[in-house]
Amino acid sequence: MGQFDEQAVLITGAAAGIGRATALAFAGDGGNVMVSDIDIEGGEETANMIEQAGGKASFLAADVSNTDAVSKLISATVKTFGRLDCAVNNAGIEGKILPFKDQTKENFDNIIAVNLKGTFLCMQAEIDAMLNTGGGAIVNLSSVAGLIGFPGLSPYVASKHGVIGLTKNAALEYGTQGVRVNAVCPGGIDTRMLDSLASQATAGSQSSSEMMDPLHPIGRIGRVEEVADLILWLCSSKASFVTGAAVPVDGGFVAQ
Ligand code: NAD
Repeated sequence: MGQFDEQAVLITGAAAGIGRATALAFAGDGGNVMVSDIDIEGGEETANMIEQAGGKASFLAADVSNTDAVSKLISATVKTFGRLDCAVNNAGIEGKILPFKDQTKENFDNIIAVNLKGTFLCMQAEIDAMLNTGGGAIVNLSSVAGLIGFPGLSPYVASKHGVIGLTKNAALEYGTQGVRVNAVCPGGIDTRMLDSLASQATAGSQSSSEMMDPLHPIGRIGRVEEVADLILWLCSSKASFVTGAAVPVDGGFVAQ
């Protein structure tokens, strides 16, 4: 018996990294998983990995910044699995590291469109679907960059602070109707995104682990499974009194 048996779970940005690990963890705990991403090859691979392990998954390509694509994604999830119980809004991009005054409007618009507007569009459609079946749980991927600033990453920092704002507001507005909404705030996690940030910051001279292990009080960057574990707990019935929270999973980073 899994704790998500018979439950329908949607995960965006699930072709790689934290999203893929979260999809595998939900499926391993009984959930029926709708895997979504703009990366078709990677997304199909995640769904195949789940099915090969005996789980149930479906893949649908969707760009979270596109209103129609998001609307079709949520409808398809409900059509495929009959309902929507848990949603993880994980799709995100990091963009370019540039001083504040040199940030381009294009970089700003792209990051806000995916990380903030994308999360907003998904949440609207997910809440609508969840209200039809008596509630559900949403987890949004913020970041330690949603809690503190990081020089060179102003659009990313703004987008991740905004995600916490959306999380709090939706939690307030739908708490009595059975929809819980929380955010997770990872520190450095070993993924493609962190590799890209480390390579930009050190002009390719250091790996993400070399650059970022010492910045975390635990002495290392995190593993994708360590973020997935928190997401699953927040979606589970064990977190029934937790909503509107922004929970760090950061090896002590924001405690410094
Ligand atoms: P990743 O780059 O490995 O995965 C991100 C996924 O999102 C990719 O598969 C990508 O194709 C997908 N994606 C990008 N734009 C999309 C769009 N418009 N529509 C749909 N899918 C899209 O990165 P990750 O590290 O696994 O990041 C996952 C989330 O965690 C992001 O929101 C990121 O900001 C957040 N996060 C990551 C870290 C870290 O250190 N890795 C730290 C804090 C927060």
